[in-house]
Amino acid sequence: MLNICFVSTEVAPYSKTGGLGDVTEGLPEELAKMGHTVCTVAPRFDQYKDAWDTEILEQVRYGKKATKVRYFHNYKKGVDRIWVDHHVYLSKTSLVNKKLYGPKDAIDYIDNSERFAMLAQAALAVPLLVPLGPDGINGTMGENTIFVCNDWHTALLPLYLKEYYQSHGIFLNAKTVMLLHNIAFQGRFPVSKFDVLNLPQKYFPDLLFTTQFAPPPLDEKTTEPITTPEPIEMLNWLKAGFLNCDKAVTVSPNFAREVTSNPAGGVELDDIAKTVGLTGITNGTKVESWNPKTDKYIPANYDAETMDSGKKICKLALQEECGLEVDPDIPIFGFIGRLENQKGPDVIVAAMAKLAELDCQVVILGTGAPKLEAELESLGDTYLFAKGVARFDPELARLITAGADYCLMPSRFEPCGLNQLYAMMYGTIPVVAPVGGLVDTVLPQFGFLMDKIPMPDKPGVKVSGEMLERGVEAMIVGMKKALQEYGTPKFEQMRLACMANDVSWKKPATQYVDVFERLMSSGI
Ligand code: ADP
Repeated sequence: MLNICFVSTEVAPYSKTGGLGDVTEGLPEELAKMGHTVCTVAPRFDQYKDAWDTEILEQVRYGKKATKVRYFHNYKKGVDRIWVDHHVYLSKTSLVNKKLYGPKDAIDYIDNSERFAMLAQAALAVPLLVPLGPDGINGTMGENTIFVCNDWHTALLPLYLKEYYQSHGIFLNAKTVMLLHNIAFQGRFPVSKFDVLNLPQKYFPDLLFTTQFAPPPLDEKTTEPITTPEPIEMLNWLKAGFLNCDKAVTVSPNFAREVTSNPAGGVELDDIAKTVGLTGITNGTKVESWNPKTDKYIPANYDAETMDSGKKICKLALQEECGLEVDPDIPIFGFIGRLENQKGPDVIVAAMAKLAELDCQVVILGTGAPKLEAELESLGDTYLFAKGVARFDPELARLITAGADYCLMPSRFEPCGLNQLYAMMYGTIPVVAPVGGLVDTVLPQFGFLMDKIPMPDKPGVKVSGEMLERGVEAMIVGMKKALQEYGTPKFEQMRLACMANDVSWKKPATQYVDVFERLMSSGI
């Protein structure tokens, strides 16, 4: 049996801004069901009421300063959940799900290098220090651990493992997996930040990265990324993670292909990802918590047999809740997601005048870019068929998932996407862009593809008005296909096929175990 330690900034329901939190909630539980010893390590962003103080301390570095972290713990559904307690995590966030990475949308905390370098160091000590199981009766995980690093925030863990432990004869059989959930965020920092990482110079080339794009300046004021005519040198944590991990994995096979195919797909890390080799494993979902038969947050529970009547009650409740015309015959498209260019909410907003001609309703739930939030909130004033809600609202997300007829995802890129999987479980037909994991999961019997939503080749470059217009046309292609079938026998068949589709973690978990076992046995 394997020892697996997931290290992540997000673990739902404790901390979550998107799919990353869902994955580190559900996948560990499935692996534990298979008999493996599994823990997650995350920052203690809030005073989680079911997490206990272990009183175990470890000395780590926060930049140049030596400091101590403390571990909190609970054990649920076979998984040990561990949190790293330090004031730089807790004091930054007054509320869960907000401000994990920065004070405002698209602005990073000035000390993110120090915060997340410390997380990696603190996580590495967990298998040696923190006893697992109820009241710690199972003892520590020990040295034969597979560390799964999730996204750039934890990408330096393989470097600290080599430098702080393996070079001293500790963790010699431990392995690291770099699990990529989103290539758009890479941990790009000024070169001057190398100093606060406390790594020897020999790692500098692995972190060094030449680019014409830099994220917003770290002054907490400007949100505009910089695009420079002359290439500039930066640090890139994800690049170093790829180069130093034992195995790189991402969340769908098609996304793995896209990332390794060209600079736009790999956001300038395509060559590195190709050299290292990237395996795609499609995400699953936690079927126990996303089940229309037992969902506590929807007004009627249903299964495949009672879908017609159950969904109708949910649909009427959704229309009522959103102040839309209450009529079960009007098709509803629902969008749930971060209001970022990746997800294409700007395309939906720009399409409004054209959607008015389609005889449908549109509900959009999301948070993110302030301009888009404001536009969403005022949508209903102009368009009676539309409702935008700029909140993070898991209950409304469930009502939309159950009550809408179609799940709309005009993503410009989508590593895997979870909303289309949840939608299918609720008999809601996905209408999606043909990118990333959406291609792997929305097969023709389950949903409709739109045309590709165009995006600029270079990160940081704004979407032009003309490009946005092409995006609107591309999305409407898919919506029209869906509307043509609305209410027909094919529509009914698709809903049933969606509900019968197994989108659980079962299959992906066995694929992960395969990767882990090969790593442990062959020393790849
Ligand atoms: P990503 O990880 O790129 O944000 P995913 O589709 O993989 O996208 O996962 C998004 C998750 O976050 C889903 O569980 C979705 O329901 C949830 N979510 C996103 N925005 C909101 C919101 N405003 N309110 C409630 N849930 C949201």
